[in-house]
Amino acid sequence: MKCPFCGSKELKVIDKRESDEDTERRRRECISCSKRFTTYERVEMLDLKIVKKDGRRQPYDRSKILKGIITSCEKLAISSEEINKIVDEIEAELFRMESNEINSTIVGDIVMKHLKKFNEIAYIRFASVYRQFKDIHDLEKELKSMK
Ligand SMILES: [Zn+2]
Repeated sequence: MKCPFCGSKELKVIDKRESDEDTERRRRECISCSKRFTTYERVEMLDLKIVKKDGRRQPYDRSKILKGIITSCEKLAISSEEINKIVDEIEAELFRMESNEINSTIVGDIVMKHLKKFNEIAYIRFASVYRQFKDIHDLEKELKSMK
């Protein structure tokens, strides 16, 4: 198990309790970044499923988010370290929802929110693919909303 914030494997359990559906909840603290998060013994983070628009469920795949962001950041002066940090933040937000099924539209919105804070061009690129802008007016509207 790794820290969803920094990826460190050095974690300590700070509190252990049983929850309703005999799933063991654990509060963990990361020794390197000292952030805290909850994990479940059975409903592991890796059991997260993404619900697509057509109702199909796919196992959560970090590399898909990573790929989308790498594409949006192409030719911008953004290091892979920075990209990984954004993915970590997005992932941390997904895990904080403490749900084992999340709609793909929610994932897309979270990705956009983080990219918006980080780099406007990368954000616009991602949004134009994700929201499938119909024409230039949609893009203009989006640009205006950022000001
Ligand atoms: Zn950490």
